[in-house]
Amino acid sequence: MSSVNIQDLDNFNAFHEVWDETESCSGSLQGMTIAIKDNIVTKEGTTTCGSKMLKGYKSPFNATVVDRLICAGATLVGKTNCDEFAMGSSTEHCAWGPVLNPWDKTRVPGGSSGGSAVAVAARMCNAALGSDTGGSIRQPAALCGIVGFKPTYGTVSRYGLVAFASSLDQIGTFTQSVNDTAKIMHVIAGHDEFDSTSNPEPLPDFLGNLNTPIDNLRIGVPSQYRGDQNDPAINTAITAAIETYKNIGATIVDIDLPLTDVGVSTYYVLAPAEASSNLARYDGIRYGHRTSEKCKDLIELYAKSRAEGFGAEVKRRIMLGTYVLSSGYYDAYYNNALKIRRLICEEYKEAFSKCDVILGPTTPTVAFKIGEKTDPVSMYMNDVYTANTNIAGICGISIPCGFSEEHGTPLPIGLHLQAQWHDDVKLLRIAQMFESSTMFHKQSPECCS
Ligand code: GLN
Repeated sequence: MSSVNIQDLDNFNAFHEVWDETESCSGSLQGMTIAIKDNIVTKEGTTTCGSKMLKGYKSPFNATVVDRLICAGATLVGKTNCDEFAMGSSTEHCAWGPVLNPWDKTRVPGGSSGGSAVAVAARMCNAALGSDTGGSIRQPAALCGIVGFKPTYGTVSRYGLVAFASSLDQIGTFTQSVNDTAKIMHVIAGHDEFDSTSNPEPLPDFLGNLNTPIDNLRIGVPSQYRGDQNDPAINTAITAAIETYKNIGATIVDIDLPLTDVGVSTYYVLAPAEASSNLARYDGIRYGHRTSEKCKDLIELYAKSRAEGFGAEVKRRIMLGTYVLSSGYYDAYYNNALKIRRLICEEYKEAFSKCDVILGPTTPTVAFKIGEKTDPVSMYMNDVYTANTNIAGICGISIPCGFSEEHGTPLPIGLHLQAQWHDDVKLLRIAQMFESSTMFHKQSPECCS
């Protein structure tokens, strides 16, 4: 067994910076202001993951995405608040307090990348990076009326993204337009030798044919995405979005995704299992908060530090994950969830033999009130349309498609489009077709136009 000493780590970081200099720095993002979710490490400032556990933590290196943005001339404007370790759907579970939705400050912005979504929706910056493990880019984008893109797993390097559930996590973008999404993807996507799960294939051209419509576009609409579980205003906006696509020549295909129903339960076995393992590193010795109380031994030090450092939702996930991985329950829960994961992949494969893209709402409801969802399961149900995208590793985007007028103030609605593995460019082109036929993305909240 070899051990990594300080000397090795110095070389490691130095090597990464050499890579940085040898890359061609295009300057294509010159003048663009970009915020970074606080679970993506930056040498500048701190990286806290919204947790007391990492209060004041300073990373010795930049995430690959951060290096690439700097290299392309972007101006990084700050770190954005998020649910603790990206666990949540509302950005209420943060050690630093909740994030408010700029369309109605009594409501949540969605989560877990709520701070990034709000920074873009409130026009504080042009774009932001977030992470999406089960919907954390697409949901806040929908609830804040902006574009949120989760690329195919492996398209963007996760090096420097603090791990939550490594087989599901993916970095992506928040922007005010699909065109800006493509501009940023052009810079941040591509293989990275520091992330063994990043795709080594040559990159598709994100910018070249963004404005060329897809011929003979087939849009799949699953019956499972429509029904009483959605706010009526959401069903109305989705019907209108289907009409928009029909008017620009698309064919609508009825498809069936019966495993939509089991997505949330599968996700809440897989994600906590991986999280319980990933978060074991925060022991108060190697990383994170250390209790100042006197402890009789090392185990008590670990226990007290973790009890003080982690919030309630993170503790719940660690307990859930440890439970489903324990020897008596592994087969019943974790192994079964892996089998369902395979079935979900097959279900998508079958669906994509009939259509280019799958259309539905991003969320079943518009932004809800802060403090409204105290029961964890009702919070988890927000992931019903987004979790399976991550379980399969395909790509998905949320784009503005309307507003609900039932709450005294307009509340944004997101259109969710999902495409096949590595069809990221095609997905952006299909999203662009909608965006160029509508004006929803041009609207900003009253506070910040
Ligand atoms: N809402 C999901 C969760 O709490 C997804 C979070 C995410 O995508 N980071 O796990």
